[in-house]
Amino acid sequence: MYFIGIDIGSTTSKCVLIDENGEIIKTSLVPAGTGTIGPDKAFEEVRDIIPKDEEFTVTATGYGRKIFKKADNEYSEISCHAKGVFRTFDEVRTIIDIGGQDAKVLRLDDNGKIENFLMNDKCAAGTGRFLDVMANILYMNIDDLGEEALKSENPCTISSTCTVFAESEVISQLSNGVAIPDLIAGICQSVTQRVSSLAKRIGVKPTVCMSGGVAKNKAIRKYLGEALGCEIVYSELSQFMGAYGAALYGYENYLKNNKK
Ligand code: ADP
Repeated sequence: MYFIGIDIGSTTSKCVLIDENGEIIKTSLVPAGTGTIGPDKAFEEVRDIIPKDEEFTVTATGYGRKIFKKADNEYSEISCHAKGVFRTFDEVRTIIDIGGQDAKVLRLDDNGKIENFLMNDKCAAGTGRFLDVMANILYMNIDDLGEEALKSENPCTISSTCTVFAESEVISQLSNGVAIPDLIAGICQSVTQRVSSLAKRIGVKPTVCMSGGVAKNKAIRKYLGEALGCEIVYSELSQFMGAYGAALYGYENYLKNNKK
């Protein structure tokens, strides 16, 4: 028996395949989200390694979960992120999940249940979208922004809080000859500032974990740790936490229904 979790996001589709022991045996990520061929492609990549005679269940989460016809079941993103993160780090009490279109802060109790959560889905600033726009202007790969920002000793200030205005501001700083690492550090600090104020509104309780695609940016992890005054734990699978949580729901439901 196998369990597929699929997280259909606004910008990417992620799958995690787990086996009967709850171990992750494959992940897939396609940089195309809901409404595209991304979900099917990500799904096929993991399904193809399941032996032909084996059964599997599919549990969906994410923005596009309700329209994915291959799913047997679906759960909200916050439930799945909480489950995936808590299974990975059971000391975590606050999760900061920054995706392509929104940012969420979740507080967990000692059993991993959600106590409270807050979300910014109204504004691109403070989300991956802001970084995507900036990487595009700078003609840089999103994966390199964190490393570049950490070279800066004098981060510049991005004062516009709106992505569109910040875009013009970055262009004007570029034409003023501001060094690229200083500019990128300023961009990353702008995201951090947005997200840390969201986190402070809900109240941060250690240990704090970052999940979602933006967690891969090590400068943002560092700045966020400084802003919140605590260490940020992070897994290489940060972007897969929702899909992992979904697969775990499928796994746990199977165990419940097949208890002798
Ligand atoms: P969603 O589920 O909304 O599609 P994800 O959690 O998959 O969002 O995150 C997608 C976002 O992650 C993208 O907008 C992109 O900006 C960001 N991202 C992806 N890789 C990196 C990286 N290496 N560093 C920083 N951000 C990244």
